[in-house]
Amino acid sequence: MQDNARRQLRQLLGPENFLEEREDCLTYAFDASEGACLPEAVAFPETAEAVSEILAIANTHRIPIVPRGAGSGLTGGAVPLSGGIVMTMNRMNRIISVDTGNLQAIVEPGVITARLHAAMEAKGLFYPPDPASMDICTIGGNLAENAGGMRAVKYGVTKDFVMGLEVVLANGEIIHTGSRCIKDVVGYDLTRLFVGSEGTLGVITRAVLKLLPLPEGKQTLLAAFGAMEAAAQTIADVIKSGIIPTTMEFMDKHCIRAVTQYQDTGLPVDAEAVLLIEVDGTPHAIETGIKRVQAVCTANRALSVDVARDAADQERLWRSRRAIHAALGLVWPRWEEEDIAVPIARVPEMVRRVDDIAKETGAFIVCFGHAGDGNIHVSLAPHDKNTPHEALTQARAAILKDAIALEGRIAAEHGIGLIKRNQIGWNLDAPTLSLMRQIKGLLDPNGILNPGKVFPSTLTCSAPFGH
Ligand SMILES: Cc1cc2nc3c(=O)[nH]c(=O)nc-3n(C[C@H](O)[C@H](O)[C@H](O)COP(=O)(O)OP(=O)(O)OC[C@H]3O[C@@H](n4cnc5c(N)ncnc54)[C@H](O)[C@@H]3O)c2cc1C
Repeated sequence: MQDNARRQLRQLLGPENFLEEREDCLTYAFDASEGACLPEAVAFPETAEAVSEILAIANTHRIPIVPRGAGSGLTGGAVPLSGGIVMTMNRMNRIISVDTGNLQAIVEPGVITARLHAAMEAKGLFYPPDPASMDICTIGGNLAENAGGMRAVKYGVTKDFVMGLEVVLANGEIIHTGSRCIKDVVGYDLTRLFVGSEGTLGVITRAVLKLLPLPEGKQTLLAAFGAMEAAAQTIADVIKSGIIPTTMEFMDKHCIRAVTQYQDTGLPVDAEAVLLIEVDGTPHAIETGIKRVQAVCTANRALSVDVARDAADQERLWRSRRAIHAALGLVWPRWEEEDIAVPIARVPEMVRRVDDIAKETGAFIVCFGHAGDGNIHVSLAPHDKNTPHEALTQARAAILKDAIALEGRIAAEHGIGLIKRNQIGWNLDAPTLSLMRQIKGLLDPNGILNPGKVFPSTLTCSAPFGH
């Protein structure tokens, strides 16, 4: 970074909002993926105007800018591949207003997702998107990744709850997309363009979020199966039965055992697979829904179907789901994860194919995820120390190709980022990918926003650790 740019940024932000020491920068070199690269500085803007001024300086001096929420991303989106400045949004963390009459909240990007949930629930309101990382991740990161979560089966994902955005463009201009109106066809839908743009098109500084009334209640059920296919078939059959559960989570036997090893929450360790299903709504809707789900599980030869006794029991079950990533990390320190989506009715076929891939490649494969919306997380680890890494690479490619063959997507909710940038063309045809590149070129002609992400690229880290 040029000295005069540094001077301008120091003057603009002050020492508490602009860190330059190597040991400070190290903390912002990585996210929750395997990628890591050292930035030259870290900026903490507190207003959209400050974001705008930083971007104007960066654009003039061609300094890469990587927006960052909590760094919980799993695809390297917040890794500063070209050095430059990591722009951390966590000091813009106000819930600016909550409009109970219009069911809307206006928030800054640094609000932690679980904090928003709690604040809304205290007012009898509901913001459904619930990534499993909600205790740490931010609304800005959720918007930039179009994060999903467990409740997507019934309610959808982040994009379904955004009405409008304030975004700062690469040249420092501040734009406003969407509005507070449910019906709004004034111009192109730019809100949807920025949601899921992974910090490559602009920096989100404010969002108008849609809320719902808090459901009256919810009930959770745990069904255990003697065969993985029976669990997968149950998922498709529940949807066919006309019930849309709030969540329908899936864990295979390896996952059940890893979670139990990490914290014993009473999962049935002898089962081949379990489904964790939640139904919400009025007491009548819950009763009808749970009965119908129980019937479908039984028809698919469930070994047991247990309805949670009370709120504490529900929490025990959900704790096991939220512990999966930590549990897998403990049991297999070097596991890798794919995040695929297929149409819901094709989940059983996808699960069968993953099983075949494990046998063919010799990779050890664990399946879990939000299978009720067709999103399967496939975790891979070496079988033992003799398994070549090539086996995992082959298995990952085969999983993505099989998902595509089933009309699926290679990225469901974790983004493309760095990890899948060279596979994006597997899912998008050339004219579509080219149009996306043109949009990027138009909004960020100097390529300063999150370089090396989303699009196929050979760009590697400019400042790896140890250099
Ligand atoms: C244990 C665990 C469980 C997870 N479970 C889920 C899950 O269930 N569902 C799911 O969808 N994801 C999940 N994730 C992934 C991750 O938490 C989400 O992608 C989340 O949305 C990232 O938010 P963040 O604040 O950490 O963003 P970061 O990781 O900091 O950034 C993510 C991307 O957003 C960009 N960005 C951040 N803020 C802004 C902004 N204000 N403007 C523009 N761009 C911005 C960054 O440049 C980067 O490209 C999980 C991760 C972990 C570690």
